[in-house]
Amino acid sequence: MVHTWDRLHLGGEWVTPASSERLEVRSPHDDHVVGSAPLGIAADVDRAVAAAKTAFDDGPWPRMSVADRCAALAPIVAAYGERLTEISTLITAEMGSPYWFSNLGQANGPHFLMQQTVQFATELEWEQRRGSSIVRRAPAGVVGIITPWNVPQVTILAKLFPALLAGCTAIVKPAPETPLDAMVLADLIADADLPPGVAAVIPGGTDAGQRLVTHPDVDKVAFTGSSAVGKWIAEQCGSRLARCSLELGGKSAAIVCEDASVARTVEGLKFASFLNNGEACVAQTRVLAPRARYDEIVDAFVAMTQGLVVGDPEDPDTYIGPMVSARHRERVHSYLEVGLSEGATVAVGGPGAVEGLSGHYIRPTVFTNVRNDMRIAQEEIFGPVIAVIPYDGPADAVRLANDSAYGLGGSVWTKDKAAGLEIARQVRTGTFGINSYAPGFEAPFGGFKSSGIGREYGPEALEEFTELQSIYGVPEA
Ligand code: NAD
Repeated sequence: MVHTWDRLHLGGEWVTPASSERLEVRSPHDDHVVGSAPLGIAADVDRAVAAAKTAFDDGPWPRMSVADRCAALAPIVAAYGERLTEISTLITAEMGSPYWFSNLGQANGPHFLMQQTVQFATELEWEQRRGSSIVRRAPAGVVGIITPWNVPQVTILAKLFPALLAGCTAIVKPAPETPLDAMVLADLIADADLPPGVAAVIPGGTDAGQRLVTHPDVDKVAFTGSSAVGKWIAEQCGSRLARCSLELGGKSAAIVCEDASVARTVEGLKFASFLNNGEACVAQTRVLAPRARYDEIVDAFVAMTQGLVVGDPEDPDTYIGPMVSARHRERVHSYLEVGLSEGATVAVGGPGAVEGLSGHYIRPTVFTNVRNDMRIAQEEIFGPVIAVIPYDGPADAVRLANDSAYGLGGSVWTKDKAAGLEIARQVRTGTFGINSYAPGFEAPFGGFKSSGIGREYGPEALEEFTELQSIYGVPEA
């Protein structure tokens, strides 16, 4: 089945896009045409922003009660729940996420996230009485949402739902690699019949994204993507004092303690390091191993990695699918060469094609003899590539974990959970796991340092889309 959209949903109606250019999506596994959508350009963004501004300034949405906004969004949640298999399958076809992860993290996950966000919206104290003042959370205004291709629905819905529930109006600019699942969401938004201008979806590339960031009527930009683009967005927003929140890259360290069960650690890191083909901002790609147990830990990683099934992402047995595109595959592959040139050793995997597969595949790779100052230990590779780095004692492990420009995730693997918690408190990352790494939607998610500014998930996500307003001299009720 080829998924095709000819029009864009903005301003509350389906409209002819400004350009006749299209985004065609081909399978990264076998190059078949998955579908196509209009390529949104700056003119479409301008039109959507104008509608969003009118909806914010003059429409009912920001003035409705939170309960009414929850009710207005309920049809989207319900309809999404009926299309989970379709959404997982589509995302797997678009960007190669293996079906086991797609079903869990690309469809069921975002569906649960929407439900949790609605729940938090009903519980949040939107207004507080303090003496003769009221402190209220007012909506931040018109929001521009810009998202990547690796977890497309999670990254959209972690912004769109809190923004809308807070009373903002929003324009979503999904990644050009994954316009199709975004258009499914556009269908659901259209069917929900929200007031005109409240929400629009405009698939597009850098031009459309830049227009959204620099548009004077966009009050807040909520972005997930690379740290390089995030810095540019922060500069642009800073120059006009627009709000922005940024969910950026990572290079998370997994600290394996002296007392850890190697079998349980490696099983846990099979998920935490290789989830979504390693195309995950939170992938635990630096494994810090105590020197005394280094060889034993490497052997266990090598055995686990050799056992990973690489292939057609639609096959339920596949653990690792293809990289999203030929260009991204080349980028990941270039790091395999970089690692070798820096003097690291390929313990399993390494450069070259995956036998029998013609798509954008990478051999899952474990590097050993890695120093933390090597590029393969400092830069985000965004593929199934991990580095095992030796350490000498807990303080050294913490030092190495913190010796990174990034600060998104991390984990510790130990039989002594109290010691694990002590290590967690010393690592400067926004999220951290003890004997697992699996972010829950109840707790705020985001990064320290170059991994970003702001938080998603939890009630904190709603707060990100509000401005505090203090009203003085309020008469007693
Ligand atoms: P990217 O930065 O290249 O692109 C992200 C989005 O920004 C896309 O929609 C793209 O079209 C748009 N864009 C690109 N240049 C722009 C510009 N100058 N102005 C406005 N928009 C622009 O990232 P990517 O390759 O799509 O995604 C991978 C990155 O996303 C990785 O670094 C990963 O770690 C990060 N990521 C972070 C999180 C998180 O929650 N912290 C989650 C997922 C992905």
